[in-house]
Amino acid sequence: MMEKLSAEEFDLNYKNVLKRLYAAAEKSGRKAEEITLLAATKTVDADTVNYAIQKGITHIGENRVQELLSKQDRIVGAHRHFIGHLQTNKVKDIIDKVEMIESVDSLRLAEEISKQAVKHGIVMDILLEVNIGGEESKSGFSPEETENAVRKTALLPGIAVKGLMTIPPVAEMPEDARKFFRNMYKLFIDIKGKNIDNSCMSVLSMGMSNDFDIAVEEGATLVRVGTSLFGRRVYK
Ligand SMILES: *Cc1c(COP(=O)(O)O)cnc(C)c1O
Repeated sequence: MMEKLSAEEFDLNYKNVLKRLYAAAEKSGRKAEEITLLAATKTVDADTVNYAIQKGITHIGENRVQELLSKQDRIVGAHRHFIGHLQTNKVKDIIDKVEMIESVDSLRLAEEISKQAVKHGIVMDILLEVNIGGEESKSGFSPEETENAVRKTALLPGIAVKGLMTIPPVAEMPEDARKFFRNMYKLFIDIKGKNIDNSCMSVLSMGMSNDFDIAVEEGATLVRVGTSLFGRRVYK
């Protein structure tokens, strides 16, 4: 767990994150209001998450099912996304607890989300996760197979395909991520331009604490920020 963050520390962190977001938007001729700041809340206690929501955080994301389930009842408000690797057999646990699953990395997972969504009489928003760096160790669709994956998932009942998400390769310098963000944006625009039936392609989720300014400059519509808001995570 994290060391408990003081209200003052969060306020200052939040102010700095917004400053970076606005600066990046301005630099690239975009409106900051069009970019969603999602707080990645792993290891952050429910009280701190609630405080962040009171202060203006509108979107939160968890990346582990267990942690999401243990905290969710104590968190008040905010749009909730799932942003981590999701095992097919865990879909049923979170299907009615989040509004969007950002990390759909296989057709099998999409099919299970579809099945569970239909069972609950809901439509789940999803993003397809793209392995933009072509890393062996990472899950996600390759850029080449992404369009076809959009076409296939868009046909599934109970699912609304809203866009793409990526985590670029770990980089020494934030600037190293720019080429991956740029390639993602190209892919996103290319697929969007095909106007695939039943898909909407309005969300491009990319950029984290180290590099979200660069992601915004390259076209992100949603950034996922943890450390810069809540401080370094300490796992015990
Ligand atoms: C933890 C996490 C983030 C935020 O990472 P930071 O570097 O702490 O900002 C973003 N996306 C995903 C999928 C995460 O798991």
